Amino acid sequence: MRMTRLHAPTLKEDPKDAEVTSHRLLVRGGFIRKLAAGIYDYLPLGHRVLRKIQEIVREEMDRAGGQEVFLPAVQPAELWEESGRWGKYGPELLRMTDRKGADFCFGPTHEEVIVDLVRRDVRSWRALPLNLYQIQTKFRDEIRPRAGLMRGREFMMKDAYSFDVDDAAANESYDQMYEAYQRIFTRCGLDFRPVEADTGAIGGSRSHEFQVLADSGEDAIVSCDTCDYAANTEQAELTQAAVTETAADSAPRELVSTPNQRTIDEVSAYLKRPASSFIKTLIVDVDGALHAVLLRGDHELNEIKLGKLLDADHIGMASEEAVKSVTGAPIGFAGPVGIGDVESIIADNAVRGLRGGVTGANAADAHLLNVDEGRDFEVSQFADLRLAREGDACPRCGGRLREHRGIEVGHVFFLGTKYSDAMRCNYLDENAVERPMVMGCYGIGVSRIMAAAIEQNHDENGIVWPKPLAPYDVTILPLQMNKDDVVEAADSIYEELRSAGLSVLLDDRKERAGSKFKDAELIGIPLRIAIGGRGLAEGVVEVKPRQGGDVEKVPLADIVSYVTEFLA
Ligand code: ATP
Ligand code: MG
Repeated sequence: MRMTRLHAPTLKEDPKDAEVTSHRLLVRGGFIRKLAAGIYDYLPLGHRVLRKIQEIVREEMDRAGGQEVFLPAVQPAELWEESGRWGKYGPELLRMTDRKGADFCFGPTHEEVIVDLVRRDVRSWRALPLNLYQIQTKFRDEIRPRAGLMRGREFMMKDAYSFDVDDAAANESYDQMYEAYQRIFTRCGLDFRPVEADTGAIGGSRSHEFQVLADSGEDAIVSCDTCDYAANTEQAELTQAAVTETAADSAPRELVSTPNQRTIDEVSAYLKRPASSFIKTLIVDVDGALHAVLLRGDHELNEIKLGKLLDADHIGMASEEAVKSVTGAPIGFAGPVGIGDVESIIADNAVRGLRGGVTGANAADAHLLNVDEGRDFEVSQFADLRLAREGDACPRCGGRLREHRGIEVGHVFFLGTKYSDAMRCNYLDENAVERPMVMGCYGIGVSRIMAAAIEQNHDENGIVWPKPLAPYDVTILPLQMNKDDVVEAADSIYEELRSAGLSVLLDDRKERAGSKFKDAELIGIPLRIAIGGRGLAEGVVEVKPRQGGDVEKVPLADIVSYVTEFLA
């Protein structure tokens, strides 16, 4: 491709709304443009990268036995009513009405549509296993679209669905997808970790997220420094050694005044006691009932764990009035001793046996010292309720957990018969007995990969594409467009490389050398060949990888083999 023909409008200034590097560089490099919040145009360079990712995904899905389909983006509401999700999905679902008044949505995912397709035509155990996938535009009306392609409203996803005769077979399908995902993200040149993930309402199923490690990632994950355990912090189980259960009782409780000191940090500084000696009391609204949830002062509540424990649909912090009604005090002074009417007092395992704790006194501007669990208050239930953090013990081997930030680029999920039951997606087994198909679903954020790759691979000058994702393999920069020998040499190398099957971007603009170098760095093509009059006089061109490596003088005659070897 000749740069003079390419629609790649690069910008000198960062877009004002860009919060993360990938967003900034994709806009500046002329890969994408914003049409509306979370909705982007892919320009030629961006579209080429997207297609590279799609091709890798497609090859590995086909290799793993998937069959590609292409399903409608617009889906009738009836199917979603059958699965029960029309009511449940909430405002992320973009709903619309056709001219006859019938309800539709723009697909945020395709379980309903695929189950409807399969239940109509697949009747026998002989047709299973079946794995269908598509690469398609999804729409989710995200509450906070952000970071460019990272969290869009309209985005491209690969979604796959497996159908099996029983759990054992479905687990095999899951394993195959897990393997395929390992190959896909490796081939994309990403540094990633598969991590154990929350399985939501469907207990007992398996779920893994594939997380690209990057500081800008939205997800917190932990991994063990000793074994290969890794999990989303939402999911990570924690084993808590009973610390002080045998310790002697404290001196009698003592009421102290803590005027206007509400947060753990404030009270801890005021009373000069470490946060770990506090018992934090959260008044939580669980499906309309108030519970007191106790955590050690330096720990954070994991709402997902609490939700699972109580089998709750909705969990939120209680309102100011509700807190007042059970504690008799404003927010900030709740404590388990003498607390008013709550459904139950639930405590994290780390509170068990805690001695000499500091708690709110259920009175304005007051706290209690020397509070002992058991002696001063009773807990109805202990459980693992907190978020994992750096330094916690690994639940598998006891090693140390380390914290990282991650970008979720893929998700594999064992669905079981949730949708097959709800939508009667059954088959006849060998004895002609009707049984529900056992399903799995598997997503990849194709457009999000484009952003994640940049978050991991960039420098102060621009993008450094992993070779397999780069929009072009190599770029040629003729440095003096007014010199015939330079232009001719550039043209002939361009043709030679293209004949060798490479994709080449020739910067044939009449720009200064400096701005050509700048744009080449910004766009991030893996290898650049600079051609100047002086080098040509010696019979050489100057070659430099986008990242690492020095400028090398390569004889004209060797250029094709040099480039081919570099890209291999
Ligand atoms: P998230 O927790 O990031 O919202 P999710 O759990 O809703 O993700 P899935 O429903 O499992 O995501 O979708 C499959 C994949 O699609 C995700 O792993 C992610 O890579 C991608 N994806 C999801 N939402 C978006 C979005 N708003 N923009 C871009 N990619 C997305
Ligand atoms: Mg989501």
